Amino acid sequence: MDFEGKIGFVTGGSRGIGREIALQMAKRGAAVAIVSRGKDDAERVASEIESLGVKARGYACDVSSIDEASRVAQSAIEDLGTPDFLVNNAGIVRDKLILRMTPEDWNQVIATNLTGVYNFVRVFSPHFIKKRSGRIVNISSVIGLVGNAGQTSYAASKAGVIGLTKSLAKEFAPRGITVNAVAPGYIATAMTNDLGEEIQTKMLEMIPLRRFGTVEDVANVVIFLLSGMADYLTGHVINCDGGMVMG
Ligand code: NDP
Repeated sequence: MDFEGKIGFVTGGSRGIGREIALQMAKRGAAVAIVSRGKDDAERVASEIESLGVKARGYACDVSSIDEASRVAQSAIEDLGTPDFLVNNAGIVRDKLILRMTPEDWNQVIATNLTGVYNFVRVFSPHFIKKRSGRIVNISSVIGLVGNAGQTSYAASKAGVIGLTKSLAKEFAPRGITVNAVAPGYIATAMTNDLGEEIQTKMLEMIPLRRFGTVEDVANVVIFLLSGMADYLTGHVINCDGGMVMG
């Protein structure tokens, strides 16, 4: 799993799972570009990555905007080169029961979690196709597979990511590009910290391995999918959830 000479691009790389994926890529020698809406956070993580001895850049970008995605992709290519790895990780939750969910709540989740994936696939695809190589890993969620009350927008967006992943895998396979998804279960990050103790206890009971996942658990699977060890895998969704959702 030597990524020396490779270039990675991670959306939502400023904290949580995305930050860990970016760090793991860099530890294996890849140059890394990360984006998040917060410019300072993205630049801070880029500096942290550079201290590992590789090139890194952090850019402010709202993934839901194709114009911003286009601009940032161009900057990353100028600064680091054409990426070999694209990890679409940026995501948000706006959990509400459907009767309380406003069109704005709905649209923001779909625009970030699903359209955001399309946007970066769209802007980097011509480069991957030209090189006839590339690895795309999209971060979905087990909620996209099984659904959850109060999470209609999130579940729909993450199920959409799975459909996108499988279709794109078929479209890109003849061009030497693999496309896979990782579906995390309950991972301890800022996104899940705010859930109350009662929900956390309930969740734990549903996890056969009896612990919440860590950002390292998810990053390990992503790194495997980016590596030569996954050369013959495409169109897969790997659940990283301590056994929560099987089959
Ligand atoms: P965090 O909230 O900790 O981090 C989310 C990251 O995405 C931040 O860097 C954030 O930066 C960025 N981001 C959010 N919205 C945008 C946007 N519109 N444009 C650009 N960047 C954005 O989340 P996690 O690390 O927990 O989650 C990462 C991914 O994993 C998400 O897709 C999430 O749905 C998925 N996941 C997480 C699970 C968990 O239990 N934690 C379980 C299943 C899936 P900023 O706010 O500055 O934009």
